[in-house]
Amino acid sequence: MIETADAIVIGGGLHGLSAALQLARRGVSVILAERSRIGRHASGSSAAGVRTLNRGRAELPIALRSMEMWHDIESLVGDNCGFHADGQIKVAESDAELDILRARVDGLRQDGFTHEEIIDADELRELVPALARHCVGGLIVRRDGAADPHRTLPAFLRSALAAGVTVHEGVGVEGLSHRQGTWRVAAGDRAFEAPLLVNAAGAWASGIAAMAGDEIPLETKASMMIVTERIAPFVRPTVSTVGRKLSFKQSSQGTLLIGGGQQARHDLESETTEIDAERLARQAAAAVAMFPGIARLRIVRTWAGLDGLSADHMAVAGLSPSAPGLMHLLGFSGHGFQLVPALGVATAELLLEGRSSVDICGLAPQRLMHEVSVGSTHALANG
Ligand SMILES: Cc1cc2nc3c(=O)[nH]c(=O)nc-3n(C[C@H](O)[C@H](O)[C@H](O)COP(=O)(O)OP(=O)(O)OC[C@H]3O[C@@H](n4cnc5c(N)ncnc54)[C@H](O)[C@@H]3O)c2cc1C
Repeated sequence: MIETADAIVIGGGLHGLSAALQLARRGVSVILAERSRIGRHASGSSAAGVRTLNRGRAELPIALRSMEMWHDIESLVGDNCGFHADGQIKVAESDAELDILRARVDGLRQDGFTHEEIIDADELRELVPALARHCVGGLIVRRDGAADPHRTLPAFLRSALAAGVTVHEGVGVEGLSHRQGTWRVAAGDRAFEAPLLVNAAGAWASGIAAMAGDEIPLETKASMMIVTERIAPFVRPTVSTVGRKLSFKQSSQGTLLIGGGQQARHDLESETTEIDAERLARQAAAAVAMFPGIARLRIVRTWAGLDGLSADHMAVAGLSPSAPGLMHLLGFSGHGFQLVPALGVATAELLLEGRSSVDICGLAPQRLMHEVSVGSTHALANG
């Protein structure tokens, strides 16, 4: 038996859920197919930083739109998703690093972006008193912050279900074909058909793209996270640095969350990661260098998650240039959580109206694609 709908979403992470929600709220019937369970991969293992700070230019318009939505997230999904806007700061440890940050702000101002500000050493100390004394200043976005992925996922799922989305867990997509304006999606002994298709399959999304005839190369990002024992509140903003692989924040429960992009070993086929202790020690050492007072704190947990890594480390979001009615949402390169609300809207707009109210042209898949083979599209269309 074939199940039919107006749209099929492949992948039950936050991007799949957000796209499904926005489509359904526009009256579109949606089937979402998730191979494992909702939030099993990047979305469920995210550090959930809600950051516009230091984004690439092409991502900025959609990131700024998303930030507006985060500040009103409860009206979107009926829950505040644990979002709090305590700011994000990128710290300079030398005058040379501060010059790099100043040059960035000057460039942004010339392009009309005013959300990033330089702060001097005094203000930095006021905002983050526990920071090492040698730091000379930083770059801040005061409206940035962080959320809780374990509140965000259920909130988006509940909203998608309430909007009428049919969610199938344990349904892995194995084949795609396109004929006479309809996508057929094969998943084991099940099949689905719809004119619209969203590829939100995370670290596996380039495989789905290839099934549709789009060669979008992706590598894998498998960032590791450290959680410490609880301590009294001592840092409110999320802190990163110019010169070290570090992202540092304190959760509302008092634990410290230390990330920054040190990579775990991983295997896409078995969908697993394995912590690399040596690299993890470097991540911990970077945190101690910036916050000497935490040196004796115990690590209570570590984890890693899998995300797609694009060649220019920026999201890939846009309609397929070759396959009709197909939207790609992939390659978030370790910073896709913040983009979730606004990219859901952009997906619905592009699929239903052919245009997005926020400019995401710079994220179009074409920029990374090998020459599009007309033959493969033709074969699909007729196959
Ligand atoms: C450790 C870590 C820390 C992070 N920290 C931040 C942060 O602080 N801020 C930020 O903005 N971002 C952060 N990110 C990145 C962010 O979490 C991801 O970019 C985002 O969650 C990606 O969502 P997604 O829906 O695209 O992917 P996923 O959540 O991975 O969802 C993709 C889903 O597709 C499913 N799937 C795959 N293949 C198939 C198939 N064939 N059929 C059906 N389903 C399939 C998978 O099972 C998976 O559930 C972090 C990521 C990690 C791993």
